[in-house]
Amino acid sequence: MKILKFGGTSVGSAARMKALLKLIVNDDPKIVVLSAMSGTTNSLVEVASLLRQKKQREAAAAIVRLEETYAAVVAELYAQPEYAKEASSRLKSHFDLLRSFSVEAFSIKEERVVLSQGELMSTMLQHLYLCEQQAPSVLLPALSFMRKDQHDEPDMYFIREMLSRELAQHPGCKLFITQGYVCRSFAGEVDNLKRGGSDYSASIIGAAIGAEEVQIWTDIDGFHNNDPRVVSKTHSISHLSFDEASELAYFGAKILHPTCVIPVQEAKIPLWIKNTMEPAAFGTLISAETEPGVIKAVAAKDNITAIKIKSGRMLLAYGFIRQIFEVFEDYKTPIDMITTSEVAVSLTVDDTSNLDKIVDKLKHFGTVEVDSEMTIICVVGNKISESKGVAAKIFSALAHIPVRMISFGGSRYNVSFLVDSAYKKPAMEALNEALF
Ligand code: ADP
Ligand code: ASP
Ligand code: MG
Repeated sequence: MKILKFGGTSVGSAARMKALLKLIVNDDPKIVVLSAMSGTTNSLVEVASLLRQKKQREAAAAIVRLEETYAAVVAELYAQPEYAKEASSRLKSHFDLLRSFSVEAFSIKEERVVLSQGELMSTMLQHLYLCEQQAPSVLLPALSFMRKDQHDEPDMYFIREMLSRELAQHPGCKLFITQGYVCRSFAGEVDNLKRGGSDYSASIIGAAIGAEEVQIWTDIDGFHNNDPRVVSKTHSISHLSFDEASELAYFGAKILHPTCVIPVQEAKIPLWIKNTMEPAAFGTLISAETEPGVIKAVAAKDNITAIKIKSGRMLLAYGFIRQIFEVFEDYKTPIDMITTSEVAVSLTVDDTSNLDKIVDKLKHFGTVEVDSEMTIICVVGNKISESKGVAAKIFSALAHIPVRMISFGGSRYNVSFLVDSAYKKPAMEALNEALF
């Protein structure tokens, strides 16, 4: 069994949904994981935000705008009126649900239901299209098998059990369609795997059923050596190791969800990145092996906050860093980068939801400085921190950029540093010139 995940642009129009058939209707048994049509999740985020701000009228207008785009898709997608009618009536229940939320009782629980509608609609439309084209397929409801545990991690035991039960109900079926991104919380409520989470869904499903491979189909010809949205001359990389891809995804390469590599790496399942617009192109193969060469790629993670704690008490003291880390642990806030000196600790976080409380507690230990709008830039490659001359190459390329923190040697695969976000583009361009 193979898992094929198609992102927002790959199902972003009636034409793209029709084109998908060439890639998914064949004799290979597969589970197809779909994202919401491109733009939909952003629109749903907007609807939820308006409802949260108690702007019922503006939310209703945003819902109408989204509903109109879907009406146009239906008009183009189906040739037979009965299918168009069926799709319209099913869409109407999704939009009626969106309209049913009132600003008085709109909490995170309702917000998550709003956000889940995109994947529920795209899979419904694609499945009906397959029916119209007489291509046998089964729509698997992700909400019946995809669940998180009490630590907000995928509950692999539950997922494996429920998914195999679902699959066993359809012996002989070769084509399953399911929703990416959506899941249930430990408490059983509708939840999601965070933005870009359909990649993660595909990888979790692949690991749960021991798939032969997982393919991420997107709008670019594979993993590039630098962020093509920031730097102009970038190229696709044919092979990456799991460790390299994992570091790049975690440190901001938008092409993959930050934790999507973990399940397939643990299960030793190859992960492909393929281009929907150019299916014959090789793309990128992510596996336990890597291609020769040291430096593979550069990625950047924005919206980073740096926190520096300065204290004379740190001098020659043990247990000091533990106490600082405990503050972050108490607020379930992951730390990305750390550097220490004799009298200070600097670290970075990207989740600032409890920043004020964290800073208040840290003030017990010394003076605290906070810098927001920072970017972590990360250079990834095979044994990069052990290779001669690599550090010199990286830092001479950055001679004109003020660097706030450096992390070297923490991982064999990555060298990262922190800059003010204003320096992100020049730093990434300089690295592109010097390293590739
Ligand atoms: P999808 O909707 O298919 O999930 P995404 O927009 O999430 O697609 O991811 C694909 C996009 O990621 C590309 O169009 C590209 O702009 C961006 N991207 C960022 N970093 C990289 C990289 N290193 N290699 C390739 N694409 C990247
Ligand atoms: N639709 C979700 C998002 O836009 C999940 C995904 O596309 O992977 O974030
Ligand atoms: Mg994505």
